[in-house]
Amino acid sequence: MLRLATDARPDYDIIVAGGGMIGTSLAIALEPLGLSVAVIEPVARHDREQPSFDERSTALSRSSQRMFEAMGLWSEIVAGATPIRSIHVSEKGRFGFSHIDATEQQVEALGYVVINRVLGEVLNGTLSRLKNVEMLCPARISAVAAEQAGDTAVVQLESDQGTRRLECRLLVAADGAKSAVRDMLGISARTSDYGQQAVIGNVMPEIAPDNRAFERFTADGPVAMLPIADNRAAFVWILSADRARSVMELDDALFTDALQQAFGFRLGSFSRVGQRAVYPLALTRANSLTGRRGVLVGNAAHGLHPVAAQGFNLGLRDVAALCDCLLDAMLEAAPDRADPGSPELLQSYASWRQADHSKVVRFTDGLVRLFGDQRGPLRFMRNAGMLGFDLIPGVRSLFARHTMGLAGRLPRLSRGVPLR
Ligand SMILES: Cc1cc2nc3c(=O)[nH]c(=O)nc-3n(C[C@H](O)[C@H](O)[C@H](O)COP(=O)(O)OP(=O)(O)OC[C@H]3O[C@@H](n4cnc5c(N)ncnc54)[C@H](O)[C@@H]3O)c2cc1C
Repeated sequence: MLRLATDARPDYDIIVAGGGMIGTSLAIALEPLGLSVAVIEPVARHDREQPSFDERSTALSRSSQRMFEAMGLWSEIVAGATPIRSIHVSEKGRFGFSHIDATEQQVEALGYVVINRVLGEVLNGTLSRLKNVEMLCPARISAVAAEQAGDTAVVQLESDQGTRRLECRLLVAADGAKSAVRDMLGISARTSDYGQQAVIGNVMPEIAPDNRAFERFTADGPVAMLPIADNRAAFVWILSADRARSVMELDDALFTDALQQAFGFRLGSFSRVGQRAVYPLALTRANSLTGRRGVLVGNAAHGLHPVAAQGFNLGLRDVAALCDCLLDAMLEAAPDRADPGSPELLQSYASWRQADHSKVVRFTDGLVRLFGDQRGPLRFMRNAGMLGFDLIPGVRSLFARHTMGLAGRLPRLSRGVPLR
């Protein structure tokens, strides 16, 4: 068992467990605060098995765009991203549909689609140039000191070089929905399996997507089509676990036919399907966002269904809020006196983030349930709702503001304000 050495100075101000999409974003966002940071990641950066920076496409919301602008990364990210100028939502075989348009919302784009691997190149490239951030990779946290006292957290690090003990003022768990560090901090989580899987990949549609994104709800589950480079479309196709397994076994031609049937011909015929991958889907929510000298961000705090493309965007708002709390503490006390892991700071982070988490969980979980239920009255409400939703611009604007991540109290970075 690890023991706290009371006489030693901490090795780092902040240790971030997890160098995926959220952990690397956090380490970069922290840079202007001048804190010493270590990122601990078990999978080598360019490993094909890297679970965060894989071939999935992520729709970045407007608040995420603003955040990357404030961090000075947007020009690099947008060079490899595709803008979404409209979103079309429909249900297979029904009359209702909804349409959200960037012009109507008076924005240049509703969001941008980026391949996770491409985003990873920008984030990891930036990280390797930062002087106050150390990347410990491949390495993993195997224990957090159980009986702690004083003003540090102690972790046990396992790597090829053996076992080391590291001390920090704040330990951030950014190690995904199955977070082991969350457990080590003594924070429980509730998980409910949707019994569904997301099949992802990309196709060449006959009609160029032309910056249009589509979401189509079918009896099997929703299919999203996102515009990506070279006039291709990235799909996220949600199916029951059994059906996902069986479509994954189809050869490319039969798979393309099945996808076409689910999505329809709004983009003409599909051809040249790329490599496919499958992700089991569950809703995970931590029962607390903080432990002693520890805090949760990203999927470690909330693993969502991808139906509304909110998970990463929500996690980035965690990052922005945590940075705000740290900066505020530094502005109140002398910077070298501020304690990044103080109970007051962690409490202000937790109470700020709860409302946004609850709202996004309710929204995504509600969508899964609303469109998954085939009973007559709900089908009617869905169609009436989608028609009404399209006819009432105020409702549509509110929905668009939520999906763009612009509703509620926003931290500095999410408003596009640099930290220094
Ligand atoms: C099919 C699909 C499509 C999606 N599309 C969108 C979208 O369009 N828009 C959107 O906003 N979100 C989307 N999401 C959600 C988004 O991918 C996640 O919210 C995001 O990846 C969370 O990032 P994370 O860094 O918190 O966790 P992860 O991506 O899970 O990364 C966790 C990292 O921690 C590392 N790790 C694991 N164990 C340890 C340990 N013990 N110690 C240290 N490190 C560890 C892992 O190797 C990994 O690098 C989608 C999700 C899926 C499944």
